[in-house]
Amino acid sequence: MKKTVLISGCCGFLGSHLCDFFLKKKFKVIGIDNLLTGVIENIEDIESNLDFKFINHDVLNYFKIKDRIDYILHFASPASPVDYIKYPIETLRIGSIGTENLLKLAKEKKATILVASTSEVYGDPLKHPQKENYFGNVNPVGPRGVYDEAKRYLEAITMAYNKKFNLDTKIVRIFNTYGSKMRIKDGRAIPNFINQALQNKNFTVYGNGLQTRSFTYVDDTIEGIYKLMLSKFSEPFNIGNPSEYTIIELVNTIKNIIPCQSHIEYFELPENDPKVRRPDISKARNKLGWEAKTNLKNGLIKTINYFRDNKK
Ligand code: NAD
Ligand code: UDP
Repeated sequence: MKKTVLISGCCGFLGSHLCDFFLKKKFKVIGIDNLLTGVIENIEDIESNLDFKFINHDVLNYFKIKDRIDYILHFASPASPVDYIKYPIETLRIGSIGTENLLKLAKEKKATILVASTSEVYGDPLKHPQKENYFGNVNPVGPRGVYDEAKRYLEAITMAYNKKFNLDTKIVRIFNTYGSKMRIKDGRAIPNFINQALQNKNFTVYGNGLQTRSFTYVDDTIEGIYKLMLSKFSEPFNIGNPSEYTIIELVNTIKNIIPCQSHIEYFELPENDPKVRRPDISKARNKLGWEAKTNLKNGLIKTINYFRDNKK
């Protein structure tokens, strides 16, 4: 019999990729989304699939569901800094109330639940690269605090349900992931720079552009999430590509792929913007047998082809 996976945030970037992935793996998929930052176009290819069901619902409100559920993947939450600064209360509530609603559902259904956490739990890190045992450096009252603290709470309540109710839980700390189905105007660095290059507009680099990030292609992230979901581990796992780039290097890589007249224009660095970010993935490598396979240039070529075909 086919297993059923419920995915919150199914119309967003990662949620919609997860839906495609699990349908290909012959799961039944129930997707939930309230379209706060997601778009229905992300699921239009699977809407007629008989193994897929979409529920338009805000997971801040508890809901009952008749179906048997084997796995829950909780991915609902604004994720782009532009989005979570626009929706600060929604972001805190989805990390707290929304997460608890899905933990309750997992308990009721005796399902395994995997929750999406983030490299943001490390804040502006004082240790580099970041291992899972680093507690982080977060400003709770800064503009990013609404997201960082929501995710730190999400981890804490997930562990509490694991310990108190013996619930089968998994926590994935995802590092900057990119690929098709991102909104080109979602405000994150990669869609912004691709959009700017495609339109011959100048690149908007914040700060001096020497801050670093580790960018992971979406197919690699999804594979890591799948391996973690099937594993026996309840403690957090970093999933990310350890190749680290400055933002200027990222711009130059995009410029080498898209011929354009765009130049770099510098803007003020947003408050508390992390200066460095690179995952230590020895744990995922050793315990899950996972590592990222796609290099930045190849991942960007695929992403740029998607944006060229879907100029929205
Ligand atoms: P996204 O904004 O594209 O998708 C989030 C989805 O959640 C949207 O479709 C939105 O409408 C939905 N949603 C938000 N609040 C909801 C609610 N109350 N009820 C129902 N649906 C709701 O973001 P994304 O990049 O796909 O990120 C998905 C998850 O992965 C988030 O939890 C995010 O924190 C996490 N994550 C993503 C990245 C990344 O690089 N993309 C990195 C770290 C963590
Ligand atoms: N950034 C930038 N220009 C942009 C968008 C982002 O210089 O148009 C920078 C941002 O300040 C950060 C990095 O690129 O240092 C990554 O930003 P993103 O929003 O993609 O993700 P973050 O890791 O900050 O959550």
